[in-house]
Amino acid sequence: MAIIITDECINCDACVSECPNNAIYEPDQNWSYSDETALKGMVKTPNGKEVDADAENDPISDEFYFIVSDKCTECKGFHDEPQCASVCPVDCCIPDENHVETEDALLEKKAWLHGE
Ligand code: SF4
Ligand code: SF4
Repeated sequence: MAIIITDECINCDACVSECPNNAIYEPDQNWSYSDETALKGMVKTPNGKEVDADAENDPISDEFYFIVSDKCTECKGFHDEPQCASVCPVDCCIPDENHVETEDALLEKKAWLHGE
Protein backbone atom coordinates (compact mmCIF):
# COMPACT_ATOMS: atom_id res chain seq x y z
CA MET A 1 0.00 0.00 0.00
CA ALA A 2 1.07 3.58 -0.36
CA ILE A 3 2.57 5.46 2.55
CA ILE A 4 0.89 8.53 4.06
CA ILE A 5 2.42 11.36 6.09
CA THR A 6 0.50 12.21 9.26
CA ASP A 7 0.01 15.59 10.92
CA GLU A 8 2.92 14.77 13.22
CA CYS A 9 5.25 15.81 10.38
CA ILE A 10 7.71 18.50 11.48
CA ASN A 11 8.46 19.57 7.88
CA CYS A 12 12.14 18.70 8.19
CA ASP A 13 12.57 17.85 4.45
CA ALA A 14 14.61 14.70 5.15
CA CYS A 15 12.32 12.38 3.16
CA VAL A 16 12.02 14.21 -0.16
CA SER A 17 15.41 13.37 -1.59
CA GLU A 18 15.04 9.72 -0.53
CA CYS A 19 11.98 9.00 -2.66
CA PRO A 20 12.82 7.12 -5.89
CA ASN A 21 9.48 8.13 -7.44
CA ASN A 22 9.40 11.81 -6.52
CA ALA A 23 6.12 11.13 -4.74
CA ILE A 24 6.79 13.49 -1.80
CA TYR A 25 6.10 17.20 -1.97
CA GLU A 26 6.53 20.20 0.30
CA PRO A 27 3.48 21.77 1.95
CA ASP A 28 1.48 23.87 -0.50
CA GLN A 29 3.47 22.68 -3.52
CA ASN A 30 1.75 21.79 -6.79
CA TRP A 31 2.51 18.29 -8.03
CA SER A 32 2.37 16.42 -11.31
CA TYR A 33 2.65 12.84 -12.49
CA SER A 34 5.45 13.84 -14.85
CA ASP A 35 7.78 15.24 -12.15
CA GLU A 36 10.88 13.05 -12.39
CA THR A 37 9.02 10.18 -14.05
CA ALA A 38 8.70 8.90 -17.63
CA LEU A 39 5.06 9.99 -17.83
CA LYS A 40 3.95 12.75 -20.18
CA GLY A 41 0.76 13.83 -21.93
CA MET A 42 -2.49 11.95 -21.40
CA VAL A 43 -1.98 8.70 -19.51
CA LYS A 44 -4.14 6.13 -17.77
CA THR A 45 -3.23 5.48 -14.13
CA PRO A 46 -2.95 1.90 -12.82
CA ASN A 47 -6.40 2.29 -11.28
CA GLY A 48 -7.92 3.42 -14.55
CA LYS A 49 -8.10 7.23 -14.34
CA GLU A 50 -7.32 9.26 -17.47
CA VAL A 51 -5.03 12.11 -16.43
CA ASP A 52 -2.78 14.71 -17.97
CA ALA A 53 0.64 13.77 -16.62
CA ASP A 54 1.93 17.30 -17.17
CA ALA A 55 -0.91 19.05 -15.36
CA GLU A 56 -0.04 20.95 -12.19
CA ASN A 57 -2.29 19.55 -9.49
CA ASP A 58 -3.32 21.28 -6.30
CA PRO A 59 -1.33 20.53 -3.14
CA ILE A 60 -2.74 17.72 -0.99
CA SER A 61 -1.67 19.57 2.19
CA ASP A 62 -0.76 23.18 2.82
CA GLU A 63 0.58 22.41 6.28
CA PHE A 64 2.67 19.27 6.04
CA TYR A 65 4.77 17.37 3.55
CA PHE A 66 2.55 15.00 1.58
CA ILE A 67 2.76 11.88 -0.57
CA VAL A 68 0.94 11.43 -3.89
CA SER A 69 -0.40 7.90 -3.50
CA ASP A 70 -0.50 7.28 -7.26
CA LYS A 71 3.29 7.82 -7.32
CA CYS A 72 4.18 5.88 -4.16
CA THR A 73 5.26 2.26 -4.65
CA GLU A 74 6.30 1.75 -1.04
CA CYS A 75 9.76 1.85 -2.67
CA LYS A 76 9.12 -1.58 -4.27
CA GLY A 77 11.56 -2.23 -7.07
CA PHE A 78 14.15 0.07 -5.52
CA HIS A 79 14.54 -0.69 -1.82
CA ASP A 80 13.49 -3.29 0.74
CA GLU A 81 11.78 -0.71 2.94
CA PRO A 82 9.96 2.59 2.47
CA GLN A 83 12.80 5.08 2.51
CA CYS A 84 10.70 7.99 3.79
CA ALA A 85 9.73 5.95 6.84
CA SER A 86 13.36 4.93 7.35
CA VAL A 87 14.67 8.49 7.53
CA CYS A 88 11.73 10.24 9.19
CA PRO A 89 12.82 11.47 12.64
CA VAL A 90 9.29 11.42 14.06
CA ASP A 91 7.99 8.20 12.44
CA CYS A 92 5.06 9.92 10.76
CA CYS A 93 5.30 8.02 7.44
CA ILE A 94 2.85 5.17 7.92
CA PRO A 95 0.91 2.70 5.72
CA ASP A 96 -2.11 4.33 4.10
CA GLU A 97 -5.06 2.08 4.87
CA ASN A 98 -7.07 3.84 2.16
CA HIS A 99 -4.58 2.80 -0.53
CA VAL A 100 -3.97 -0.89 0.01
CA GLU A 101 -2.17 -2.56 -2.93
CA THR A 102 -0.50 -5.92 -3.52
CA GLU A 103 3.22 -6.20 -4.12
CA ASP A 104 2.52 -7.02 -7.79
CA ALA A 105 0.39 -3.89 -8.11
CA LEU A 106 3.15 -1.78 -6.57
CA LEU A 107 5.72 -3.23 -8.98
CA GLU A 108 3.36 -2.53 -11.90
CA LYS A 109 3.01 1.04 -10.67
CA LYS A 110 6.78 1.40 -10.51
CA ALA A 111 7.07 0.13 -14.11
CA TRP A 112 4.29 2.52 -15.20
CA LEU A 113 5.98 5.52 -13.58
CA HIS A 114 9.35 4.81 -15.11
CA GLY A 115 8.33 3.55 -18.56
CA GLU A 116 9.63 0.02 -18.11
S1 SF4 B 1 7.49 4.77 0.42
FE1 SF4 B 1 9.13 5.15 -1.04
S2 SF4 B 1 8.02 5.60 -2.96
FE2 SF4 B 1 6.55 5.91 -1.27
S3 SF4 B 1 6.72 8.06 -0.73
FE3 SF4 B 1 8.08 6.92 0.65
S4 SF4 B 1 10.09 7.06 -0.35
FE4 SF4 B 1 8.53 7.57 -1.91
S1 SF4 C 1 11.05 13.17 7.15
FE1 SF4 C 1 9.13 12.99 8.34
S2 SF4 C 1 9.03 14.89 9.53
FE2 SF4 C 1 10.53 15.22 7.92
S3 SF4 C 1 9.34 16.18 6.23
FE3 SF4 C 1 9.39 13.96 5.85
S4 SF4 C 1 7.50 13.19 6.79
FE4 SF4 C 1 7.86 15.22 7.65
